[in-house]
Amino acid sequence: MKALALFSGGLDSSLAVKVIKEQGIEVIGLNFVSYFFGGENERSEKAAKELGIQLEYIDFKERHRLMMLNPVCGYGKNMNPCIDCHGLMIKIAYENLEKYGANFIITGEVLGQRPMSQNRIALKRVDKLSGTTGYVVRPLSGQLMEETIPEKMGWISREKLLNFNGRNRTPQIELAKKYNLVHYPSPGGGCLLTEPNYSKRLKIIKDDNNFHKDYLFYLAKNTRMYKLNTGKYIFVGRDEESNQELSKYKEYGSIYITTHKVPGPYIIGIGDFEENDITFAKELFSRYSKIKGECEIEMNYNGEVIKIGIIDKNKLENMMKELQIVN
Ligand code: SF4
Repeated sequence: MKALALFSGGLDSSLAVKVIKEQGIEVIGLNFVSYFFGGENERSEKAAKELGIQLEYIDFKERHRLMMLNPVCGYGKNMNPCIDCHGLMIKIAYENLEKYGANFIITGEVLGQRPMSQNRIALKRVDKLSGTTGYVVRPLSGQLMEETIPEKMGWISREKLLNFNGRNRTPQIELAKKYNLVHYPSPGGGCLLTEPNYSKRLKIIKDDNNFHKDYLFYLAKNTRMYKLNTGKYIFVGRDEESNQELSKYKEYGSIYITTHKVPGPYIIGIGDFEENDITFAKELFSRYSKIKGECEIEMNYNGEVIKIGIIDKNKLENMMKELQIVN
């Protein structure tokens, strides 16, 4: 018997794997890769190695992006459509059972751990959305859930599943100690959709009907973002690393500013820029550069070296306050 596990490399998914492996079931970990979480990472690799399981990356960026346009069960506190997201991952795992010669699916969900997305009704909705009712085992709360097909068929023993319930994570931490698991991150990290600031930016991109422009998902990370108008944004690098990241998307910008002699941020303008928008972008460069708008500065503007004089800082600060989408 073989199971496919939804495997983020976090504590819950690692424990779920362990509990099922203890029953002599082979497990393959599926790490789901979207625009907002997942992807090749040391944490999952280490955790999989520690558990002795094969790790596979499943790229579902496009299906996840489409789901996010209109999640059936809506969003959580931020832009996290957790019920639909889990439902989609399980659905895809189900589609992959044959490919991996597996018989059922396991997840690290714990009944009552997240009040909105992991209560009994929410978990039923997850199963319904995934279309896999009966083939999903939640080993950490299995004894509290309806009997699943792998239990009915005798593939796994219900008695050896656990009865974790609620938000208290002490049982998980104790179990991790018992199993000698050390490579797991603190809970809740890793998904950008649960971050309030990133979510505000993402919501704007979605409301502006720009959710098909995936480069905006990357630009909205680790930069300063200004919205000038519907679909018209300026992204400003925060530091060297952020500048380098931003430079990967320069082809999408109608304006692209980089440094010339004096250190400063890289800037990309998305949308149709008019003269006053361009001036604002140039002034932002001056303001965030090493000279902080105090004297004349040169910059590389769309491949040409240009200069601007001392800026009116008060006027600029007011505009920044008005247009910036969270700091
Ligand atoms: S926290 Fe993120 S990855 Fe996890 S279910 Fe919610 S949206 Fe999906």
